[in-house]
Amino acid sequence: MIKVGIIGLNGRMGHMLWQECSRYEDLKIVCGVCKAGPALPQGCEVEVKEQVSELKTLPDVFIDFSRPEATLALLDFACEHKIAVVIGTTGFDEAGKARISQAAEVIPVVLAANFSVGVNVLLSLVEKAAAILADYDLEIVEAHHKHKVDAPSGTALAIGQAAAAGRKVELKDVMVSGRDGITGERQPGSIGFAAIRGGDIVGEHQALFCGEGERVELGHIATSRAIFAQGAVKTARWLFGKAPKLYTLKEVLGLDRL
Ligand code: NAD
Repeated sequence: MIKVGIIGLNGRMGHMLWQECSRYEDLKIVCGVCKAGPALPQGCEVEVKEQVSELKTLPDVFIDFSRPEATLALLDFACEHKIAVVIGTTGFDEAGKARISQAAEVIPVVLAANFSVGVNVLLSLVEKAAAILADYDLEIVEAHHKHKVDAPSGTALAIGQAAAAGRKVELKDVMVSGRDGITGERQPGSIGFAAIRGGDIVGEHQALFCGEGERVELGHIATSRAIFAQGAVKTARWLFGKAPKLYTLKEVLGLDRL
């Protein structure tokens, strides 16, 4: 039996994770962390606290879909108690990312901005296309629901990173986001980002490779959050018992060959 703790248990993803875990006989959610307010999943009787440090029940693996500040508190606790962590939360700054890498020297960690299999196939395709279409202008367009707090989305940034890797450049050196006003002409080699927010859009991403006289579009549309929960729970099962390291979702899903 693998004992699971959910960070963000009463959030949109927390509810999905609760449902997904209940499909497995060898998984048991034993505790959760979230801010008081929204309802907990139906039938939830496990220990739930507002701070991870208050938990008395320890799981084997944490699955975290919350906010960066909650994830950072989680990493301190998980390192202290040697508990594996699956991180789906997005919006980390450089210091946050460094803390995740540091924690992965002590515990096994998977960090993924998008746990869907389809998006991870898209990342591999974008990396290849960016290398081959090296002089095409790349624009990444993403759309999400009105409650999303960060932009560009973590997935859009992952697409940008995949493209930058394909072109052997650093994303931070070529990224252009939030154009407004007199921006001047597009710089060759830059990677542009545009974000749309509204309604209940689950998550849509497009990578547009714009050339002279043609355009190649690679994209992904999520129609249900269940795909993220499925990937995260699959990852938690895979991560259980692994040695400390920052594993990639490619390793988990066996997409290394793409
Ligand atoms: P949500 O707002 O519905 O839920 C957030 C949850 O985090 C709530 O349970 C809230 O109580 C908890 N939380 C927030 N701040 C906290 C704190 N300081 N301490 C303890 N708990 C805290 O959000 P959501 O739609 O469920 O998304 C959560 C995160 O997951 C976001 O960062 C989102 O971008 C990300 N996400 C990632 C993927 C993926 O595949 N990686 C997919 C969907 C969403």
